[in-house]
Amino acid sequence: MPFPSLKGIKMSNLKSKIEECFRCLFLAESDEKQWKDDPNLKDTPDRIARMWREFFPSTRSFPALNCFPNDFDYDEIIMLDNIPFTSVCSHHFQNFSGKAWFLYLPDKTVIGASKVKRLIDYYCKEPQLQERLSMQIMNKFVEEVEPQGAMLVMRAVHMCMACRGVETGFGAGMTTSVSNGVFRQLEVRTEALNLIRISQEMKI
Ligand SMILES: [Zn+2]
Repeated sequence: MPFPSLKGIKMSNLKSKIEECFRCLFLAESDEKQWKDDPNLKDTPDRIARMWREFFPSTRSFPALNCFPNDFDYDEIIMLDNIPFTSVCSHHFQNFSGKAWFLYLPDKTVIGASKVKRLIDYYCKEPQLQERLSMQIMNKFVEEVEPQGAMLVMRAVHMCMACRGVETGFGAGMTTSVSNGVFRQLEVRTEALNLIRISQEMKI
C-alpha cells in the first residue's frame, strides 16, 4: 500500500505537476525564460520528481524475510547494529535520517542478517513519524519471527528541526526505543544497552 499513492502517475506527469508547483511557489511568470535557460535550474523539477519517486516508490513489495529454524538452539541476543535509514516526516515532508540498532532473542526461528535492514527500508518509504516507524518494524518482526523478545532503538536527525524552526543543526536528534517480550526485563535490557554501547565504540 504505497502512500501517498504515486501509483498510476507517469513520470512525465509527475514532472509537469512538480514543474507547475515549482513555478507557483518560487517564480514569477516573467522569470520563466531565465529559469529555463539556467543550466542549474532547468532540470530541477525533473530531479525533484525523481527524488520523490525514490522516497515514495509507486510500487513496493514486502521483503521476503527468509527465516531459518533455530536448530542449534541459539539462546543469546542477536544484534544488527548501526543500520542506516532515511525516511520523510509526515508533518513537514522533510527527511529524517539516522541509525538503528535491532536486537532479538530467538526462539524457534532466526532471520537472515540483511532482512532487518530490508524491513526498516520498507516502512521508511512512506510519510512517517519516527515513533510509528519503530512500532511498525517491531510489530511486523515479532509477527513473522516470533522471538522470545526484541528491541529496536532508532536515532535520527530530523531536517525539519535541524534546518528550520528551532534550527538544532545536526547535533540534536530524536531517539525512539521499543521493546518486546524478554527485553522488558531489566537484566536483558541492561545487556542490550551494553551491546549497543560496545557497537558504537567499534571501529570496524
Ligand atoms: Zn517534521
